[in-house]
Amino acid sequence: MEVILVVDDDINLCTALKDDLTEVGYDASYVTNGFDAVKHLSENKVDLVLLDLKMPDMDGFDVLKEMEEKNLNSKVIVLTAYADVKSAIDSAKMGASDFISKPYDFDELLITIRRVLQRE
Ligand SMILES: [Mg+2]
Repeated sequence: MEVILVVDDDINLCTALKDDLTEVGYDASYVTNGFDAVKHLSENKVDLVLLDLKMPDMDGFDVLKEMEEKNLNSKVIVLTAYADVKSAIDSAKMGASDFISKPYDFDELLITIRRVLQRE
């Protein structure tokens, strides 16, 4: 079973995504801040991270930076509250595989998840 970690400071989004991803067959869990994300990724095998960019204290870019420094090579799809082309380009430069704007469409998100997980 493929393992997905949702990282977002919006707890409602986290629980909804965890439930929906579990329902379609992923092993999904979540954390609500960047520090816990880096800790979780250091200690667990995770295939894919759904990463919010805007979080207090340690944002999505900081998480991407830490992942690179610590050699944590889970794939990453960035989630952000608005279609921000600059953020998309910046996060791609920092290793993100794809980009989804919020509010997301779950079916669209699933297609992106499947595509990114199939890419080697
Ligand atoms: Mg946020």
